[in-house]
Amino acid sequence: TARIIDGKAVAERLRAGLATRIAGLHFRPGLRVVRVGEDPASGVYVRNKDRAALAAGFDSSTIHLPAEARESDLLMLVENLNIDPAVDGILVQLPLPPQIRPEMVIAAIDPAKDVDGFHTVNAGKLVTRQHGLVPCTPKGVMHLLREAGATLRGARAVVLGRSQIVGRPMAQLLLDADCTVTMVHSNTRDLAAECRRAEILVAAVGKPELVRGDWVGEGAIVIDVGINRNAAGKLVGDVAFAEALPRAAAITPVPGGVGPMTIACLLENTLEAALARRGHT
Ligand code: NAD
Repeated sequence: TARIIDGKAVAERLRAGLATRIAGLHFRPGLRVVRVGEDPASGVYVRNKDRAALAAGFDSSTIHLPAEARESDLLMLVENLNIDPAVDGILVQLPLPPQIRPEMVIAAIDPAKDVDGFHTVNAGKLVTRQHGLVPCTPKGVMHLLREAGATLRGARAVVLGRSQIVGRPMAQLLLDADCTVTMVHSNTRDLAAECRRAEILVAAVGKPELVRGDWVGEGAIVIDVGINRNAAGKLVGDVAFAEALPRAAAITPVPGGVGPMTIACLLENTLEAALARRGHT
């Protein structure tokens, strides 16, 4: 039966390490989280980010715009944060109300302050192996794989899902860690067979328990990025956890796996951005 990878504990250690490093600085790295409107899930995320940032010693605050805010209002706010020397990291919480185009907002963020790593400049740096800001969720998955003691060099890694914010950067990071990477998606001919070959399986599709037990190879390390509600309203991942448990060597639970790592990596990115911007590299 699989070892359960405790993302909460790994994230706590990562945050404690960041707090120690920040305590030794002569400034507090600044994070501004921007929320527009009243999306309820965003409210929870934003509060958690703010709380974790303050606890680790960041100068963090949330700026909340009303649901009717215009795109130009948000662009002006981003511009002000771009030029504010106290601000090292800017995060605009998605989704945005329909009158605001997220791609316009992301493009407006100074790439040096883009702690989500979504700006085209940071995406380009990732694929050209330059030092930039890496999206938080795939970065968190790499931390978990290392903590789980996974041998990455030469390992067959399968990434399920090809989104801009998880699947694509995830595959890139695994490739840079010398895995043999396969990306699978909704047009893949035999998803189950591809997944079964994986020594490292990362699921990021957003479909409750799509990955069944017999999709998991014996001894695989399974990282479940999905956060979904099933028909009964229960929070579940993209992997049928109970079915995967007897076959996998290690697996992340939902909740308590990848989720806490995403916030910890946001803070790690903010510290990295602060050190780079302020010439501490
Ligand atoms: P997305 O919807 O942008 O992308 C999903 C990807 O999965 C797409 O590439 C799509 O082609 C593929 N896909 C969809 N249905 C499929 C199917 N039936 N078979 C094969 N491939 C299929 O989603 P996302 O933003 O990448 O997020 C994925 C999941 O991860 C969601 O559940 C989301 O809530 C979760 N998530 C969690 C965190 C975290 O902090 N843990 C962060 C981001 C996203």
